[in-house]
Amino acid sequence: MVSTDELTTIEKPTWCPGCGNFSILAAIKNAISSLNLEPHKTILLGGIGCSAKDCQWVKIYGFHTLHGRPVAVAEGVKLANNRLNVIAASGDGDGYGIGIGHFIHAMRRNIDITYIVHNNQVYGLTTGQASPTSERGFITKSTPNGVIENPVDPLTLAITGGATYVARGYAGDVQHLSKLIADGIAHKGFAVIDILQPCVTFNRVNTYDWYNKRVYKLEDQKHDFKDKRRAYAKAEEWGDKIPIGLFYKAEKPTFEELIPQIKEKPLVEHDVRNIDISKTLREFV
Ligand code: SF4
Repeated sequence: MVSTDELTTIEKPTWCPGCGNFSILAAIKNAISSLNLEPHKTILLGGIGCSAKDCQWVKIYGFHTLHGRPVAVAEGVKLANNRLNVIAASGDGDGYGIGIGHFIHAMRRNIDITYIVHNNQVYGLTTGQASPTSERGFITKSTPNGVIENPVDPLTLAITGGATYVARGYAGDVQHLSKLIADGIAHKGFAVIDILQPCVTFNRVNTYDWYNKRVYKLEDQKHDFKDKRRAYAKAEEWGDKIPIGLFYKAEKPTFEELIPQIKEKPLVEHDVRNIDISKTLREFV
């Protein structure tokens, strides 16, 4: 079994002390270790933002892509070699801002990718501007009079969009989060795990104390994750009580399973040496 030590890089994370990202990184390594995923068959992709650094600090394959693009590149990786375990990580700005189109289309395809979103409700790397999940009234340097827009609700969006594994974790509970991520990786289809991640430097509202008073686990309430209506109702709960856990899960064919060319073997293993493309080329002349 691959240990978390074997997954740990020599370089140390450079996040602010106390940042929720440390717990998320630990949970990703715990999940990979618990599933005994082979590092050379596993890839973690990141976009831009504090969250994007995950892929630099786990000793598996990594790809630091562009802002909002980890899911798009992850889809390309999965289609090129559908035997790989593909995990993408974003922040709320990366994934629910510029990357939201890729998020929606990947969900409706139900491609077998695990998407981990560090949701701290603020742009951390660019030093504290309002993000797509900032709550109304939230004061930042870009919104000195408070945010006037309504926040994106990632969970209801994911249930509507076609994701077949929809969960929310909390960076203040690493064990619970590790299991959610492991189950998301093991799930066949698009899995999204939105994570409540305190940004200790730029979000002084949604702190560990704030969350600790509010979060509760869906499994303690025997939530039926196959019931879409109940999943919506729980996803809309936000305020004095905030649920974490698995909201919704469904079994559906994955995108890759519907593509005959890669059903038997991955694209990278196809022998392209004797394919005659001259007829196609002539069409362009
Ligand atoms: Fe973490 Fe916020 Fe610091 Fe970024 S700015 S490393 S999210 S605490």
